[in-house]
Amino acid sequence: MKKKFSALLPSLFLCLLIFLVFLFFYQRRPQEQKAEPLQATKMLLNTVVTVTIYDSTDSALLDGAMKLCADYEQIFSRTAKDSELYRLNHRQNPNPDGSFTVSKELAELLKQGLFYSELSKGAFDISLAPLTSLWDFGSDRHQVPTDAQLQDALGKTGYAKIHLDGQKVTFDDEEVQLDLGAIAKGYIADAMKDYLLENNVKSAIINLGGNVLCVGKKPDGKPFKIGVQKPFADRNETIAVLDLADRSVVSSGIYERFFEKDGKFYHHILNPATGYPHENNLSAVTIISDRSTDGDALSTTCFVLGLEKGLELIESQTDVQAVFITKDGEVHTSKNLVLPLS
Ligand code: AMP
Ligand code: MG
Repeated sequence: MKKKFSALLPSLFLCLLIFLVFLFFYQRRPQEQKAEPLQATKMLLNTVVTVTIYDSTDSALLDGAMKLCADYEQIFSRTAKDSELYRLNHRQNPNPDGSFTVSKELAELLKQGLFYSELSKGAFDISLAPLTSLWDFGSDRHQVPTDAQLQDALGKTGYAKIHLDGQKVTFDDEEVQLDLGAIAKGYIADAMKDYLLENNVKSAIINLGGNVLCVGKKPDGKPFKIGVQKPFADRNETIAVLDLADRSVVSSGIYERFFEKDGKFYHHILNPATGYPHENNLSAVTIISDRSTDGDALSTTCFVLGLEKGLELIESQTDVQAVFITKDGEVHTSKNLVLPLS
């Protein structure tokens, strides 16, 4: 018996050796790669810009998308002294006939801006720069302009004084100036999405300060989950989470840029008729659409139009949905949207 066991010893030893070698290589096997998404965040457009790509490992795409965003800021910024819009607003480089030739990009955004100014009969108005520079919500000045200042600025506004013919712009009034802040972020998000699509990205999220644009779906084929933010709450607090693929979610609200002075609350969405922050019972409007340009223009427009007229406008559009949140927390949706219970 003893002899038999010792005869088996070499084979047992060999088995153990094979097992140990197997264990060694098994533990050193390449770990199944759970691909981490690529992500970059930058301060651009006066806000936090984040791009997340789920189906590529090429970080040059993040750089490319961010560069595009920065390049567009250089065209559309009202305040940067070397932007194309600034030069136009200050009537630099006129043509001999007094018109101005603008870039294809600026012409395209102006066209969209004029379209929504007309559609809303001036509730949305791209000519409010004389007013917005007085209020200057982007700064920490927190000063309320005087009535006289606002009346003077109001005299310089009116989108009907701006004419666009191809890439040629003419003004009826020497002092009219453009502010594209209510639509530019949407346009830039769409351009960033087009760039990613052209580079074969099929799953990504573009987030420009809370305005979200989905590129395709999640890598597992399921829709992205996009939250509708609760006004004045933490960025992560939502009133609903939507399942969305290839859609844009843009909000406008009194919680975005505001200040309080002498017990009064002032926010950045202006009533083009009075020059003061627009007063109604709304605290935010969220628009869900394919293109973010439409969502951005419509969210500001609907805020100014108010609940009833805003809903009417949204329901006249194709494939656009809206969520209106009132100051006392009521949530109203357009007929074509059912919010999931959260
Ligand atoms: P949004 O955050 O997209 O609703 O846009 C608000 C920004 O658009 C403001 O900071 C102003 O620069 C500009 N703005 C304010 N009121 C209006 C308005 N009634 N129509 C168009 N642009 C506006
Ligand atoms: Mg807007």
